[in-house]
Amino acid sequence: MSNMKDQDHLVDVADAAQIERMHALLARQRAAAAAQPFPTLAQRRAQLDKLIDLLRRRQDDIAAAIHADFGVRSASESKLVDVMGPLLEARHVRSHLRRWMRPRRRAAELLFKPNRAWVQYQPKGVVGIIGTWNFPVYLTLGPLAAALGAGNRVLIKTSEVTPRTGDLLREMLAECFSEDEVAVCGGGVAAAQAFNALPFDHLVFTGSPRVGREVMRAAAQNLTPVTLELGGKSPALVGRGNLQDAALRITHGKVFNCGQVCVSPDYALVPRGQAQAFVDAVHESFTRLAPQVAGNADYTSVVTERHAARLRELLADAQAQGARLWPCGPSDDTGGSGRQMPLTVVTQVNRGMRLMQEELFGPVLPVVEYDSLDDALAYVAAGERPLAFYGLGLSGAEEARVLKESHSGGVSINDWGWHVFQHDLPFGGVGNSGMGSYHGEEGFRELSHAKGVFKRYRWFPVQLFYPPYGNLVQRLAMRWYLGRGH
Ligand code: NAD
Repeated sequence: MSNMKDQDHLVDVADAAQIERMHALLARQRAAAAAQPFPTLAQRRAQLDKLIDLLRRRQDDIAAAIHADFGVRSASESKLVDVMGPLLEARHVRSHLRRWMRPRRRAAELLFKPNRAWVQYQPKGVVGIIGTWNFPVYLTLGPLAAALGAGNRVLIKTSEVTPRTGDLLREMLAECFSEDEVAVCGGGVAAAQAFNALPFDHLVFTGSPRVGREVMRAAAQNLTPVTLELGGKSPALVGRGNLQDAALRITHGKVFNCGQVCVSPDYALVPRGQAQAFVDAVHESFTRLAPQVAGNADYTSVVTERHAARLRELLADAQAQGARLWPCGPSDDTGGSGRQMPLTVVTQVNRGMRLMQEELFGPVLPVVEYDSLDDALAYVAAGERPLAFYGLGLSGAEEARVLKESHSGGVSINDWGWHVFQHDLPFGGVGNSGMGSYHGEEGFRELSHAKGVFKRYRWFPVQLFYPPYGNLVQRLAMRWYLGRGH
């Protein structure tokens, strides 16, 4: 007991040290931003080059750190998402930056011609980034690339669930950035709360809708604008096309990082009467993608015992309420991390069950049968707006209806998740799945201030708008715009 108290005290002390450090870092970065408020194109590109080089050089260290944090994390998945993801984002920003940074000419009102109006994109200043554990490098260095492209200084708060990766990020970034350019803070939830109470010029938060609300509340005290990258229950709508293909692609979305992906297909909607055929096809797909679960280096484990216990509880709750569970393999309680859980498909589900209320974020796939497209769309619309929507094997007309009638952060058609990896597309949620976006040009705009500028030239007849009012030209202008009523 006293041991636990000592440990709590140690954690508090560690958090207190982190909190002190983050205040000092913010002050340093603010001063540096004030001293150099508008980094040039060449300076921003040089920073992005350093980031790209770092990712290439340290790819094995990154994969090893995430593996150590997870218990088992497929090195291929780490390299594909946590190394290649931010690398592609940084490359995309680098190659489009010149055009994005250019001031954009806008039309001056007719009455004000030929004076000039334009938008100047200015760095916001210091951007805070709070990442999470499921892709601990992509979700911190991806926003970092966008923030650097926009000319900002950046403070990153890493997740307490992946401390080794957090330490590695701090060490790696210190190799090529000074702390007044980019700095990394660790610590637990108290440190995260102190972090989001800092008066940043913009805050990018990735995590759950629940904590997203807390982050927005804290940011409101400083009127800090926020980008909230949250989650939700992303549906996979299976049409009357090839069921095997749809099942394989959805299963991949649950096998990849063991379903711990914000855009993982959360549940499947299948035409009534096809649930059993779909369950069989998912089983077959799972066996193909993960022929063995325990000890399989390509099959990532559930990140902590707490997360694994939550998934078991969701399954037990559903079973107690009459759902049928179809595990795709024996659960692993011996080899590997002890948390390499096989996928469980669940049929006969209803909205009263916890697993149809909470985002699953793991290897559990509920199957809901629908009668018509109207039915399926209404089912999705009755819940919170998801981060992604997947349509697989739909007709062209059905696809068009999904795109126009459903709300979601993004969409992949005939697969899951890959829209996020197109770095020219904005990535973000809507409603409960978040607000704002990064990636691509939208990321640059989000992390820049769009400053509207009007420039008056010498011969602008401004006296037309000076009192005393009522001269002929004024009256004509008013009549032209406002009509005879004036
Ligand atoms: P979480 O909200 O519990 O934690 C996310 C981060 O917030 C962590 O780094 C944590 O340290 C920090 N945090 C915790 N409490 C905080 C507080 N009170 N104030 C400020 N920060 C706090 O999320 P999680 O469970 O770690 O991650 C899973 C969730 O994240 C899922 O909902 C998933 O969909 C979502 N997610 C979204 C994206 C995206 O890009 N949209 C990506 C990955 C995960």
